[in-house]
Amino acid sequence: MNRFEYVRPATAAEAIAAAAVPGSAYLAAGTNLLDLMKGGIVSPKRLVDVSRLPGLDEIEPLPDGGVRIGARVRNAGLAYDPIFSKRFPAVAEALLSGASAQLRNVATVAGNLLQRTRCAYFYDPASACNKRQPGAGCDAQGGENRLHAVLGWSPSCIATHPSDFCVPLVALDAVVEIEGQGGRREVALEEFHLLPDDTPEHESVLAPGELVVAVRLPGAATPFAAHARYLKLRERTSYAFAVVSAAACLRVENGTIAEARLALGGVAAKPWRARAAEAALIGAEPAAEAFRHAADAALAEARPSGDNAFKIELARRIVRRALAVAAAGTPERLPALPASPFAPVPGGALHG
Ligand code: SF4
Repeated sequence: MNRFEYVRPATAAEAIAAAAVPGSAYLAAGTNLLDLMKGGIVSPKRLVDVSRLPGLDEIEPLPDGGVRIGARVRNAGLAYDPIFSKRFPAVAEALLSGASAQLRNVATVAGNLLQRTRCAYFYDPASACNKRQPGAGCDAQGGENRLHAVLGWSPSCIATHPSDFCVPLVALDAVVEIEGQGGRREVALEEFHLLPDDTPEHESVLAPGELVVAVRLPGAATPFAAHARYLKLRERTSYAFAVVSAAACLRVENGTIAEARLALGGVAAKPWRARAAEAALIGAEPAAEAFRHAADAALAEARPSGDNAFKIELARRIVRRALAVAAAGTPERLPALPASPFAPVPGGALHG
């Protein structure tokens, strides 16, 4: 067993000071970190337990119509918050499509952003992995890679980011609030995660010891609530990561698309904002032809990283389907199988 120090600070400032010691890691719910430690994938010298820090567990409606979400708000608590799910239904749908009910009850907002890839070679200490050990190589290339990235990958790493939650967040211009020894700063979620390039071990813009304290969704995202959906294709109906997913949010005025937001999951090392597709939708009639153009634009830069060319066409189709169900209108109640393209008519799960 690897020995480590465990500290439980009383305030965020104490936590940040404690995490300044090299080799430290923050512990919240631990749904990913503890698995990584048990598997010998990571071995922090010091665990800084932030699971009881005051002031980080609130969902605050903002005057502009947005919401500020404390870093240790639980995934289920956020999805079922009546104000949040009404203002940001695609985000609630994404949250409820992730993991299992038990995990959603404990997993936190910041932990969701910071979870590691599910590349099997990353979790296998016997495999070469540049992300785990820089310069070691990448056994996923030439290995089992059908679920790996088709956008933004590099010869160093072809892994994907596994989050559902982050996909509609990035589509809706979420902002991450970060505290460190140098004070507080804010980063657009779109800029928060990094593509691998030559340094796949660097996954976010967080400097050592910096702490995510909140995620904010702006009021400017609420006009999309009437036409907002998240769809996710996975290899079994629940408790599985996305093969591909899409968040589609539309603002429809007088029968045309006035504004569109679109992001994809399961395709890259970060949640992938499809800005060219958004631009292609503006002014179009919300119908199949425009959705097909948008899907083509969203995947225009995609290329296989191995045995995964099928994901490119699958991603095009999930984009078209997500746009179509978003155009049809956000259901009054979330589908019983949130985010499933196979879900029957809405009903079952609580929504608002
Ligand atoms: Fe490691 Fe990335 Fe290669 Fe997976 S794809 S083995 S995470 S370097």
